[in-house]
Amino acid sequence: MTLDDAKKLDRDDPLAPYRERFHRPEDTVYLCGHSLGLQPKSAAAKVEEELDDWKRMGVRGHMGARRPWMPYHELLAEKGARVVGAMPSEVVHMNTLSVNVHLLMVSFYRPTPERHKILIEEHAFPSDHYAVASQIRFHGFDPADSLVIVGLDEDVQEVIDREGDALALVWLGGVNYYSGHVFDMRAISEHGHKVGAVVGFDLAHGAGNVPLALHDWDVDCAAWCTYKYLNGGPGSVAAAFVHERHATRDDLPRFAGWWGHDKETRFKMGPEFKAIPGAEGWQLSNPPILSLAPVLASLEMFDEVGMDALRTKSEKLTRYFEELIGRELAGRVDIVTPREPERRGAQLSLRILTGNGRAAFDAISARGVVCDWREPDVIRAAAAPLYNGFEDVHRFANILKDAIA
Ligand SMILES: *Cc1c(COP(=O)(O)O)cnc(C)c1O
Repeated sequence: MTLDDAKKLDRDDPLAPYRERFHRPEDTVYLCGHSLGLQPKSAAAKVEEELDDWKRMGVRGHMGARRPWMPYHELLAEKGARVVGAMPSEVVHMNTLSVNVHLLMVSFYRPTPERHKILIEEHAFPSDHYAVASQIRFHGFDPADSLVIVGLDEDVQEVIDREGDALALVWLGGVNYYSGHVFDMRAISEHGHKVGAVVGFDLAHGAGNVPLALHDWDVDCAAWCTYKYLNGGPGSVAAAFVHERHATRDDLPRFAGWWGHDKETRFKMGPEFKAIPGAEGWQLSNPPILSLAPVLASLEMFDEVGMDALRTKSEKLTRYFEELIGRELAGRVDIVTPREPERRGAQLSLRILTGNGRAAFDAISARGVVCDWREPDVIRAAAAPLYNGFEDVHRFANILKDAIA
């Protein structure tokens, strides 16, 4: 497993040319796609075209721009849907992630005195934890009674069975941000439904990382950001999934806005809200075009490559990563992330067992490694298959080995 071997693996990698289609900070080993994906070189032109159309056309750009702004978000639906295994009408790009989590809960968390609990995972992303706890309180319940936390190594189905009739909503990070653990979303969806619960996932770490089939898995709802594996840019517009089964339900409460209103009559400006069937009906505002443009640029690339090819490379790359860590750092670093490929994505979470982990992290950062640190002792690093290669991983492992020695 020499540097030459790594370079050979890169030469044999059919996706290697995509590396050159991204900008990257100079002199870095960038393994931080789980936090902020790199900028596709095609993003700037997409944004500039919108700035230019706005400059030339003003308000007329809504209908007259090269990509008319009025239906602009529709350009992303099909591509976004392919990434998560959904129908285009089940996916909408809107708002940012935590906002979408709340909007979905308005519709899909409807507690009663008998059924009021929400199940989340241990080490859930703080925003999700805050969101569900505040939703519970908003409905007059107490997180102490209504919030159930399942351990990452616990049997989720067993916990679902135990809570049974009391469980209103299962809301898990489909891929946990801390450990990179991938839940068996299909089984959880089926099992949650068996006890009468609604099942949703936060896919911030799943979308663009692992294969998803939200429609076939019969998931009720999901939300994800587009700035991690999806490379949409800092704070880029997020997405939401609502299963077709709920597309035309008018018994679901929702927070409504004019962009979710029937397109035919939107500009009649009447007071009566009529939802667009499907995920688009959850929109509130006309979307930020300048922030959607880089997402479109990125999704075009995902479409070109396809999640299957991406996953094939990702599994290889992460296995190589795991083997290198095992060989070079045995006894000094423990891999927190599951070992089975189907239970993980691109990210490995590395627990530093010896010496001062924080000092080691600072040392590798000083040598150009970009990854991140989670207290008290974990380094998270992801080899994003679109723009990372085997040489990146090799360099990372050797720099880390020096830092720990
Ligand atoms: C990254 C991430 C977020 C971030 O939320 P924003 O609203 O985009 O700031 C939320 N939840 C999870 C699980 C995440 O990984």
